[in-house]
Amino acid sequence: LSDKLQNVFKNLRSKGRLTEADVKAALKEVKMALLEADVSFKVVKQFMKSVQERAVGADVMTGLNPGQMVIKIVNEELVALMGSETTEIALRPAGEITVIMMVGLQGAGKTTTTAKLAGKLKSKGRVPLLAACDVYRPAAIQQLQINGEKQGIEVFSMGDKQSPVNIARAAVEHAKSRNMNVVILDTAGRLHVDEEMMDELVQIKEAVHVDQTILVVDAMTGQDAVNVSEMFNEKIGIDGVILTKLDGDSRGGAALSIRATCGKPILYVGMGEKLSDLEQFYPDRMASRILGMGDVMSLIEKAQATLDENKAKELEQKIKKAKFGFDDYLESMNQMKNMGGLSGILSMMPGMGGSKMKNLEGMIDEKALARNEAIILSMTPEERANPDILNPSRKKRIAAGCGVDIAEVNRLVKQFEQTRKMMKQIPGMTGGRGGKRGKF
Ligand code: GDP
Ligand code: MG
Repeated sequence: LSDKLQNVFKNLRSKGRLTEADVKAALKEVKMALLEADVSFKVVKQFMKSVQERAVGADVMTGLNPGQMVIKIVNEELVALMGSETTEIALRPAGEITVIMMVGLQGAGKTTTTAKLAGKLKSKGRVPLLAACDVYRPAAIQQLQINGEKQGIEVFSMGDKQSPVNIARAAVEHAKSRNMNVVILDTAGRLHVDEEMMDELVQIKEAVHVDQTILVVDAMTGQDAVNVSEMFNEKIGIDGVILTKLDGDSRGGAALSIRATCGKPILYVGMGEKLSDLEQFYPDRMASRILGMGDVMSLIEKAQATLDENKAKELEQKIKKAKFGFDDYLESMNQMKNMGGLSGILSMMPGMGGSKMKNLEGMIDEKALARNEAIILSMTPEERANPDILNPSRKKRIAAGCGVDIAEVNRLVKQFEQTRKMMKQIPGMTGGRGGKRGKF
C-alpha cells in the first residue's frame, strides 16, 4: 500500500496544480490501493466518499496547492476512520480489581499479549495477576507461566482439570486476598469462531465481573480480522481491540477497518514477539504508516497554515529584485511561524542544513516575533520599504517608539539582512525549479 500511495502522491506532487479530474483520478488510485491493502470494501467506499466530498469542491479549488490539500484530506480522513484519538484501557481505581478478559482466535496472540499488557500495567504501578483459563492446550498454561515469570508477574493456574469459569472465579478471589488490582484472563481460542467458544466466554463473563473484554486480532489476517471483530462484538460484546503482528503486516488494512465497522477502539498494537513489543495505538501514526511517508506527513502538518501562493510569488519577485523590505520580512516571518519555523522549512529544501540552519535557529520564537513586529510597526513606511536608509538616529527613534533597547533594533536589522541574503541563495525562493512549493 505504502509504495502505491507514494506513487500516487508523487504524481500529485509533480503536477503542481490539480484540476477536479486530477483529484478524482488520484482518489481512484487511492481506492485501489486501499482495497489491495485488504481494507473492507464497505469502509473503502465510505472513505472515498468522505474524501471526495471534501476534496472535490471549494477546499481544493481555492487552495492554491491542491496536491497538498488532497494528501492532507486523505490523511485526516484516515485518522478519523481509525478513531482520531488514542484510547486507554479503562481501569477501576487502584483500590479495586479490574478484570480484563482476553479473547480471540487461536494463534492471534492472546497469551503473548496478556503477558505484554500485564507488563505495561505493572510499569504503571498496578499489581496484575494472570489467569490461565486456556485449559485445552496444556502448553498454553506453561507459556503464560514462562511469560509471567519473565516479568515478575504472578500467574494463577489450576491445571487443565478445572473449567475456565471456575479458574476465572478463583483467580479473582486470589487477587482479592492478595491486594492485587488487575486480573487478566487468558482464554482459549479456536481456529474459527464457533458457538462453544462463544458460550464459554459468555459464561466467564456471567461468573465474574469482567470490566474489559479485549479482542486480540492478528493484523496479518486482513479482511478476516474485521469479520472476527464483528462476530465477537455481536456475540459477547468487546470493549477494545489489540492488533497483533503489525510488525509483519506492511498493509495495516485491518486497523483501518475494525474501528469503522464495529465501532470499537484499537487500544494497542503488537509489534513483535518480545514482551516489550506492545505499543499504544496512535491513529495518526497509523495513518502515516499506511501512507508510508513520515516526512511528507510532517510537511503536510506544516502546510496546514500554508502560504498563499500569490503572496509567496510576490515575495519571490521582490527578493529577486532585492526589494525585500521589512513589511515582507514581517509577513514571511508570520507565514514561517505557521509552517513550523524557518529552520523547519529550510530543512525540507534541498541543499539546506548544517551551519546555515544553525544561524537561523531560534529566530522564529514567538516572543521574538512579537517584539520584531512591534519594532517594524514603529518604522515609517519608507523605512520598511527601504531598510537601507536605517541610520543610527532612525534606529534610536524606532527603539524609543516601541520601547525596546536600540540593541534589539540592531539585532532585528541584522537578522533581516541575513534573511535577505539567505533567501537569495535558496534556489527555489528565487524562481529556480519551482522551489519549495513545486515539491508538492
Ligand atoms: P494465542 O493462541 O492467541 O494465545 O496466541 P499466542 O500468544 O500463543 O501467539 C501465537 C504466536 O504469535 C506466537 O508465536 C507469538 O510469539 C506470536 N505473536 C504474538 N504477538 C505477536 C506480535 O505482535 N508480533 C509477532 N511477530 N508475533 C507475535
Ligand atoms: Mg494462548
